[in-house]
Amino acid sequence: MVDLASLSREELRRWLAEGGRGANEGTVWTWLHRKGGRDPEALRHEGRLSAALLDRMRREGCVGRPAVAWEQRAADGTVKWLLSFADGARVESVFIPDGDRGTLCVSSQVGCALACRFCHTGTQRLSRNLTAGEIVGQVLLARDLLGDHALPAEMPRRLSNVVFMGMGEPLANYESVATAVRTISDRDGIAISRRRITVSTAGVVPAIGRCGRELGVNLGVSLHAPRDELRDRLVPVNRCYPLAELMKACCGYPGLSNSRRILFAYTLLEGVNDGLREARELVQLLDDLPAKVNLIPFNPWPGAPYRPTPPDGVRAFQLELLGAGIAATVRETRGGDIAAACGQLKTEAAARCVP
Ligand code: SF4
Repeated sequence: MVDLASLSREELRRWLAEGGRGANEGTVWTWLHRKGGRDPEALRHEGRLSAALLDRMRREGCVGRPAVAWEQRAADGTVKWLLSFADGARVESVFIPDGDRGTLCVSSQVGCALACRFCHTGTQRLSRNLTAGEIVGQVLLARDLLGDHALPAEMPRRLSNVVFMGMGEPLANYESVATAVRTISDRDGIAISRRRITVSTAGVVPAIGRCGRELGVNLGVSLHAPRDELRDRLVPVNRCYPLAELMKACCGYPGLSNSRRILFAYTLLEGVNDGLREARELVQLLDDLPAKVNLIPFNPWPGAPYRPTPPDGVRAFQLELLGAGIAATVRETRGGDIAAACGQLKTEAAARCVP
């Protein structure tokens, strides 16, 4: 059986063409991705495809979704899903509402090899890359669960933005991420503009320029330290691609402007990277680059070797950046009443033997 929703548009076109005449890839694509179609019978009723093709879709095709192994809902509306794929691999997706819109944070790998010290996912070894279909499946499932597929075409969807900031390093799984971005942004399907898609990297420098040229998405960088000696410890990929190389790649990222800035994530760890020294070094590092900084109060997980910076320390750090003219926001701690740190739900589920 072929999971039709997991195919790229070109793959779908070829698969349908193998079935002979009457193949209309645009109709099937829109049904799969815009309407969230699962049962080809709906297409028969619309009379849009030949009977032979519909029979083939039923016999040889299916439309899958990852299974929800566990769902947690926070008081602020944040929803976190632990998802299972056919081979038992599990990842997390998080929906963060903002008024009547919202952002889905998707995973790109099962575990992560980059082992950032403050990141809970970094404690889970890399099992495998997700396929493009498994990444798109997270978006389609979220739209199912949020009711987006049932809305009339002219109504805005709740799921308006996608960020690749879940489990895994997206640029270490570039081909799947690229195919997924093309599918998610296709105007006949899910149709989320690439201006509303952000791919975040811990610093896989060789793929940054390619990501900008080929995909045209927003770039996020998990920075977390403004000098090599500190970043080598917190974000070990820095030992391969030190800050000078990372910043050079950032400066060359296509399409940067004041209205299209790189988003630098900086997790504040008490007594580690949250002093005025680091704030000033960060100002120097980002000098002249269209950048915005998202300061993230550390979300502790059991056994974490760090503590969060107290609120007055967060504010002092932010003021130092703002004073130097750098846009700096403090990320609200969303979903504080659920296991909100990336990778934490998966560990909790294992501890509780969630099937
Ligand atoms: S922060 Fe990102 S790149 Fe680093 S270990 Fe966590 S998931 Fe991997």
